[in-house]
Amino acid sequence: MALRTRIAPSPTGDPHVGTAYVALFNYAWARKNGGQFVLRIEDTDRERSNATSERMIFESLHWLGLTWDEGPDVGGAHGPYRQSERFPIYREHAEQLVERGAAYPCFCTKERLDALREEQRAKKLPQATGYDGHCRTIPREEAAGRRAAREAHVIRLAMPREGETVVADLLRGEIRIDNRLVDDQILIKSDGYPTYHLANVVDDHLMEITHVIRAEEWISSLPKHAMLYRSFGWEEPVFCHLPLLRNADKSKISKRKNPVSLNYYRRAGYLPEAILNYLALMGWAISADREEFSLAEFVASFDLKNVTLGGPVFDLEKLTWMNGKYIRNLTIPELLARLRADVLSDEYLLKVLPLAHERIDKLEDFAEYARFFFVGEVAYDDEALGKLVAKKKTAAETAKALAEMLEESLDPLLDWTAAALEAAIRAYCDANGWKPGDLFMPVRIAVTGKAATPPLFETMEVLGREVCRRRLRRAVEVLRAMKAQTQPSARPEGV
Ligand code: GLU
Repeated sequence: MALRTRIAPSPTGDPHVGTAYVALFNYAWARKNGGQFVLRIEDTDRERSNATSERMIFESLHWLGLTWDEGPDVGGAHGPYRQSERFPIYREHAEQLVERGAAYPCFCTKERLDALREEQRAKKLPQATGYDGHCRTIPREEAAGRRAAREAHVIRLAMPREGETVVADLLRGEIRIDNRLVDDQILIKSDGYPTYHLANVVDDHLMEITHVIRAEEWISSLPKHAMLYRSFGWEEPVFCHLPLLRNADKSKISKRKNPVSLNYYRRAGYLPEAILNYLALMGWAISADREEFSLAEFVASFDLKNVTLGGPVFDLEKLTWMNGKYIRNLTIPELLARLRADVLSDEYLLKVLPLAHERIDKLEDFAEYARFFFVGEVAYDDEALGKLVAKKKTAAETAKALAEMLEESLDPLLDWTAAALEAAIRAYCDANGWKPGDLFMPVRIAVTGKAATPPLFETMEVLGREVCRRRLRRAVEVLRAMKAQTQPSARPEGV
């Protein structure tokens, strides 16, 4: 049987650098073994999944050159590859489990489950107890009757109450979990939609995936998945949980400490081959004295068994250094082509030009006027620094508002359009006792470095989410540092 791997992202946000990392290792293992690499879109969460996010996943994987052999936009023998188009398959499989007694309908109401959780909390039970199995004992016929009468219910997996589940992980060896610690996982929700666990296992089986290579954070799901395979009577794939990428402080990689969106790296002008090279070093080495290698070299020498689990640090400075080396290896015509493809593409220039058109008198004014559309970070002159603090507010208050606004109002925005941005920022102001006009100037300075700019929201739309988020975070840091400086003891010398 051919070796088959897959990447199974959920389209619920920006394409994540962790997805590229896991995709790279899956891609390399399939290519190395003459197998196939499958892309499957796991959009079972109907509220959070969206088409924009799915499109960005396709685009960023294509940009990186991690092309798949089967998937939603190329088809293949096992399609469709979008879980939302496969719901009847999951329901049918859940019924098979109910028939075998490996799963059962649960009619517990939200009120009962809330009360149960409350009781468990009050008793300070030593371990995560989860669902108490109340509906497991309902006689089959009675349960079938209640279902036929359309009583609201979910389908749960009947985890064994005793013993342990033992599963092998290629890198970690045997993983043993006490079954009492594993909840009776919901497989089908009351609206008939499957949960991740059921859809994921059913699809990996039906799509004949031989190697499930994914991030460490899914290890906790492993006993449930193993139980599902065993309940269906299916052969288990090889499981391999890659180490989690970490921030420099060893915490799990997060957007507070590192840009995690692939859109950011593309927008900032990191070269795809440099990113792949850097990601390949996360838990793997080609040799002790060599760090630079191509994707083809990686594929040729890759062995999944040699991945190390030390918790690789995703170090932006190191990636940038490596990217610089890749840039210097380009010929001048190649460099020009790269600039034209991204930073200076016609597509981008055509968005910037309307915002500069009315405001320049000579063509040469353009570069100066539109500078902030092309640079990474903006510098603040004294005037800008003064206006970064909102009128009648302190630097600390302004920092707090910008940070909150970013996190609560801008980060959740699905569409980064001028209209959506304006509505979100105004809504933040209304909810937090700010006059919108008072916050607009600090936002303007933060994202452009200037007090006089084209219309703010159009400007933010063109700059894009990654650039705005990065500049707003930096403005928050600058404002916080200002606050420290007003305390005499913290005043650095000469300031
Ligand atoms: N949909 C899951 C994710 O977004 C897939 C996890 C897995 O590979 O099993 O990461």
